[in-house]
Amino acid sequence: MSRQALNSTGEAPSACDVVIVGAGFSGLYLLHRMRGLGLTARVFEAGAGVGGTWYWNRYPGARVDIESQEYSYSFSEELQDEWRWTERYAAQPELLDYLNHVADRFDLRRDIAFETRVVSAVFDEATAQWQVSTDRGEVVSARFCVMATGCLSAPNEPTFPGLESFRGPTYHTGRWPHEPVDFSGKRVGIIGTGSSAIQSMTEIAGQAGHLYVFQRTPNYSVPAHNGPIDPAVVADWKVNGATYRQAARLSAAGIAAIKPTEQLALDASEEERRAVYEDRWAQGGFAVGAAFADISIDPAANATAAAFVADKIRGIVKDPQVAELLIPRDYPFGTKRLCVDTGYYEIFNRPNVTLVDVASAPIEAITPTGLRTAAGEFEVDALIFAIGFDAMTGALGRIDIRGRGGLALKEKWADGPRTYLGLMSAGFPNLFMVTGPGSPSVLSNMIVSIEQHVDWITDCIEHLNGRQLAVMEATAEAEDAWVAHVNEVADTTLYPQASSWYLGANIPGKPRVFMPYVGGVGPYREKCDEVASRGYEGFALSSVAGD
Ligand code: FAD
Ligand code: NAP
Repeated sequence: MSRQALNSTGEAPSACDVVIVGAGFSGLYLLHRMRGLGLTARVFEAGAGVGGTWYWNRYPGARVDIESQEYSYSFSEELQDEWRWTERYAAQPELLDYLNHVADRFDLRRDIAFETRVVSAVFDEATAQWQVSTDRGEVVSARFCVMATGCLSAPNEPTFPGLESFRGPTYHTGRWPHEPVDFSGKRVGIIGTGSSAIQSMTEIAGQAGHLYVFQRTPNYSVPAHNGPIDPAVVADWKVNGATYRQAARLSAAGIAAIKPTEQLALDASEEERRAVYEDRWAQGGFAVGAAFADISIDPAANATAAAFVADKIRGIVKDPQVAELLIPRDYPFGTKRLCVDTGYYEIFNRPNVTLVDVASAPIEAITPTGLRTAAGEFEVDALIFAIGFDAMTGALGRIDIRGRGGLALKEKWADGPRTYLGLMSAGFPNLFMVTGPGSPSVLSNMIVSIEQHVDWITDCIEHLNGRQLAVMEATAEAEDAWVAHVNEVADTTLYPQASSWYLGANIPGKPRVFMPYVGGVGPYREKCDEVASRGYEGFALSSVAGD
């Protein structure tokens, strides 16, 4: 029997072919592709505008850490021809302008409901329709539901004791205000030393009266060498862009600029190794992380990269005690997401910046005037929480998603996410995820992975429609085998050795499971294409609702 929900007005749900949740890079491209199939689609977005990550993360210094021309859509020649990036690594305002331009250029806004949060998505087995409900009381019925909710969109909320007693303003990097924040002359405290913290404090150090950096775990950071985009790069991309795009799609991390190498760190002499690392350091960005083929799998090889960066830190930071505190020691190099900075270590040479070690003397409480650690009191006028996200599963877990038999996705994933290819989860028919757990997602240039998923989902829906198939669902067997494969591949690397957000280790109580697929963007794409070419092997396809 159909269990149809009603709108808050008492009316029956409106209907469309596809509901898309989220209007970031994923949701925008999906809407465009769904329209291309002649389908009706509705997009719901919690924010007041498009952009996703680049709508919410407006903290000073926010910018991409993959070169701009690679971190952009490749699906439209015209779009690529008309858009000009100004910097090697575009800053947040420019990325947001780009996504607004995309929304206008492809006339996307008319199908997007802003400031509307999806609160539940329930599969009605009798009709094989998803009933999607929003916080505005609207219910929409759709055959397909696609979660384009983002891997890093659910902020890790601060829960420090005494938080509400603080008299000054507080900020979360993932929910930064739209109006500029002036820290001139202020004592500012920032908690965290991940990418968001590193980018923001590098800017804020130049403005604040004093900046206290509360560090629990140091991060490896490598220089971006940012600047105006090189006209030679623009000219080269005009001629060879299509080749680079294809190389990125078949590469390990979705980045054409990172040249693959077969060379092993341990096969090279000390001198050769140093030369390679220096060359990669000079190149900037993630190049250092891919300097040798064995860095992410062999502890001894990894130690050579770690030692190289440690030496760099010692060379930049003048106070030896501060330098030692900034050098990571508890996890292999690159097993937490590498940070890409513009003068990060240099800020610790400023007289107005103090590094506070909250690993040896943990934060005890926020006080009305600042923060108390086991070592003492720190008075600040403003506090910034750069404490990250409930990554990969957080946004999905905040929606009440129910599949066959009323099964809640959250319950099914209580011991960690389970998907087939990071695209679907057994028991949740016609529900797709973009860059879901079990796909390369956050280990890649996300735009390459997003386009691949959106294209695959589009082809899949076209396949179903062309054959009058109503329902598609991952089989439990295919899912079990994929989950085992994802874990097996992760275990051949050093990644699981770090208490990172890749493992959910940053969120108390979250199961410790390595969530992204570390097998590489190219091989993963091949696997997805192979599955499709075999008539969607590992998925059950049916023409009957309720099957
Ligand atoms: P998002 O951009 O996260 O968009 C998801 C949208 O869904 C959000 O707008 C959110 O409001 C909305 N949403 C979620 N739940 C609901 C709901 N229940 N109802 C309605 N709306 C909902 N990746 C890279 O590859 N390179 C980078 O340099 C890089 N830099 C980053 C910098 C920061 C600060 C962060 C946080 C992430 C960065 N990432 C980077 C990852 C980045 O998230 C992706 O590159 C990409 O922007 C993701 O796009 P998306 O559309 O999949 O998700
Ligand atoms: P993050 O990497 O998870 O860093 C959070 C920081 O907060 C860590 O240093 C963490 O310390 C600290 N922290 C969390 N809770 C704490 C507590 N209770 N007490 C003290 N310290 C605490 O989050 P993020 O910096 O927002 O970055 C998340 C991801 O977004 C990145 O890894 C990257 O993928 C993406 N990103 C990219 C860019 C870019 O350069 N383009 C910029 C920002 C974000 P512990 O390590 O000890 O937990």
